[in-house]
Amino acid sequence: MKKNEKIKELTFLLLKEIGEDPEREGLLKTPSRVSKAWSFFSGGYKQNLNKIINNAIFNEDGKDMVVVRDVEFFSLCEHHLLPFFGKAHIAYIPNGKVIGLSKIPRIIDMFARRLQVQERLTRQIAETLKDVLDPIGVAVIMEGQHMCMQMRGVEKQNSLATTSSMLGKFRESDRTRSEFLSIIGL
Ligand code: ZN
Repeated sequence: MKKNEKIKELTFLLLKEIGEDPEREGLLKTPSRVSKAWSFFSGGYKQNLNKIINNAIFNEDGKDMVVVRDVEFFSLCEHHLLPFFGKAHIAYIPNGKVIGLSKIPRIIDMFARRLQVQERLTRQIAETLKDVLDPIGVAVIMEGQHMCMQMRGVEKQNSLATTSSMLGKFRESDRTRSEFLSIIGL
């Protein structure tokens, strides 16, 4: 069977099942578009952390907090297969090692392009940075809008879910945590 053929078939069936005519002009290419979109949305399952990091970890003596804020993320909730998206703020305090800054959004994408709940996504990013850098502390805060809340059911249009994972010094020290929160404006 050709790659992605199955997702095309399933999409064709889904269109029929909701009362559409999958053979009308506007929908003819929809199954193949949906199948391509899904291979992108689920691309994180096939990615490899070492390849992403690609040796971009450097020795560095400083112990000052590194903050990367307002990183956009897009993911899919595992309960409804609907998007949730927003911004991630990441901080760590190095302990001899730093990571190339452009790698942080790529690590976020690797976990975001899987079926997720925002809590787990937040924790996986924090734990990955802890594993690869062995830093003095790591903090990740994510703020997300969930289409499964906004489009259906409760229909709360402006609600934002905030999740956080604080490890090491960020968990132990109020001052360190406050410094991070004030940098990101929370
Ligand atoms: Zn959901």
